[in-house]
Amino acid sequence: MLNLVSIDKRFGNLPALSAITIEFGRNETVGLIGPNGSGKTTLVNVATAIYGPDSGKILFKGADITNLGAHRIFRLGIARTFQNLRHFPRMTALANVEAAQYGIPGNSLLHLLLGNRRTARSLRENAEWALEQVGLQDVRDRLANALPLPQLRRLEIARILARDPELVFLDEPAGGMTPAESEDMARLIVERVTPNRTCIVIEHKIELIVQVCSRVCVLDAGLLIADGNPRQVLALPAVAEAYLGREAAVA
Ligand code: ADP
Ligand code: MG
Repeated sequence: MLNLVSIDKRFGNLPALSAITIEFGRNETVGLIGPNGSGKTTLVNVATAIYGPDSGKILFKGADITNLGAHRIFRLGIARTFQNLRHFPRMTALANVEAAQYGIPGNSLLHLLLGNRRTARSLRENAEWALEQVGLQDVRDRLANALPLPQLRRLEIARILARDPELVFLDEPAGGMTPAESEDMARLIVERVTPNRTCIVIEHKIELIVQVCSRVCVLDAGLLIADGNPRQVLALPAVAEAYLGREAAVA
């Protein structure tokens, strides 16, 4: 589905990603873990064309997308959530989900302004449906900046569901959450996000990774140091060593 081939990405002298080759299969759910600063978010940024790689290739369903812009990649059906939340704080929850759909072929702000009622209705209905999927229907008219963090992370998931992408990166979907909130997020991901979709999940909460993923990739200092079955990968001495003495908590 998505192939990263020999990806290198440096920031100045710092190799953030070195010779990363990973294939994410159709409808697979893969955990991407590693200590802070190991390159996880950079991998998502490169795969979604926020940055171009210094070298290497990115293929999506066999087509070379290495040099496409972020907008084109988004339209192809690749979406992501952000570790540092991205939403419109002064818009309602519902408007945030509606806005996530602009840019999908056939859905545009122009269509709305021109009063294409069929499109407008489907955008609205689709946003309402997505909010229901994540359990936010009762707060749909609240401003996003009035929502607590767990609900904002759910709002990010609703924005993804409204677009119905084929492949999604979730960057720390349970970041800043209590164990109980993380458990709810894990359930939401399994029930609503992973079915019929390729998912790559970045998370420090290993419980969530084990619950959600059938495969785990481990980055350490920009290198892929393990890739495989979660229990086996997590038992590897090299993986434990990568985390030793670092600030990241393997909870
Ligand atoms: P992770 O998500 O695994 O915590 P990142 O991918 O955010 O790690 O960062 C990997 C390394 O690249 C870190 O050393 C980080 O400081 C550096 N880095 C990430 N983005 C940038 C950037 N835009 N400019 C400079 N350095 C960056
Ligand atoms: Mg990160």
